[in-house]
Amino acid sequence: MSFREFLGNESTVRRLREAVAADRLPHALLLSGPRGAGKYTLAVKLAQAVNCLNPRQTDGLPDYCGVCANCTRIGQAADLDTRVDEAIAAREELREVDKKDTRILIQTHPDVLVIPPDPPQLLIKLGQVRTLIREIYRVPAEARRAFYIFTSAAFMKEAANSLLKVLEEPPAYACIILLAENLGDLLPTIRSRSSIFRLGAIPVEQIEQLLAERRPEWRPAQRALVARLAQGAVGQALGFNLEEYLASRTDALLILRNALREPDYSALFRMTETYRAGAEGQQKTANLLGAILSLLEDLLLLQSGAPKLIRNTDIEKELAAMAQHVTLDWIEAAERGVHQVRSGMRRNLLRSLSLDAFATGLVR
Ligand SMILES: [Zn+2]
Repeated sequence: MSFREFLGNESTVRRLREAVAADRLPHALLLSGPRGAGKYTLAVKLAQAVNCLNPRQTDGLPDYCGVCANCTRIGQAADLDTRVDEAIAAREELREVDKKDTRILIQTHPDVLVIPPDPPQLLIKLGQVRTLIREIYRVPAEARRAFYIFTSAAFMKEAANSLLKVLEEPPAYACIILLAENLGDLLPTIRSRSSIFRLGAIPVEQIEQLLAERRPEWRPAQRALVARLAQGAVGQALGFNLEEYLASRTDALLILRNALREPDYSALFRMTETYRAGAEGQQKTANLLGAILSLLEDLLLLQSGAPKLIRNTDIEKELAAMAQHVTLDWIEAAERGVHQVRSGMRRNLLRSLSLDAFATGLVR
């Protein structure tokens, strides 16, 4: 474990590590950049670098060991989705009256608090900022510096206003890190009190290269596909479930082929029949709809003469042939249909029924 495994944005990472070396990491740090650029990964690594008990250097800059008590516990927060799922599940177990006042917080180390948007509204709420205010004036017990990481810039108004007061005069032993996809999502007064560091999306070729090292079992065409589907998001590319995507895409292609050629309804309904109600069926249907959308977007790109931008590069020939048989109107209608099935799912309509209606509705 090291900064060396952090992909891309070399100069920004270097400047931050130089700040760690000079003991000048700002008290309020704003990392901005697109989803998948590594904002959260970098925030966790900074907390580890500042607090590592056996700090070391790589490339002449501070790095962390990854195995000491501080590195290990802070590192447990790195898998954010899993930690958040656990916290939500724990809240579900509470009595109704306690549930209401319990906010989602991740604390794998006593001096490092991760604050994700609180579901179901997915906003940073006042209760979460109040926890920070309660903790931030406490001298860190086991860390050199305490870290407070906000993983989203979507604040409720009163939460943002409370945070502002802390940002005016944060204690010397604390570092607040804010992550934002768009700087405009934050109050100008919060932005002006923070040091801003920008991260860019990772180029597709760089992700392909990384996949060649980390997922050697994938064929080059598959790595090219995954790198494009991840859209600049390294974590998503590395954890991509290729098998699941290809299964969904096979069904999605069946729906599209069926719509564009002589329809074979028995094959179609045999397939849609496998999409059942319940949590598992819901995930499977969501994956199918995602695959249909990715194919429709590729058809659109092929029609507009931008074949280089398509994502399903491994089946480009078939998609190019399909693109000749569809119109812009048909693609747009199909996209609307996908969104209708999605909203039907949210309203809990019978899944395979709305899927059948969608698939047969596509037949010209
Ligand atoms: Zn360490």
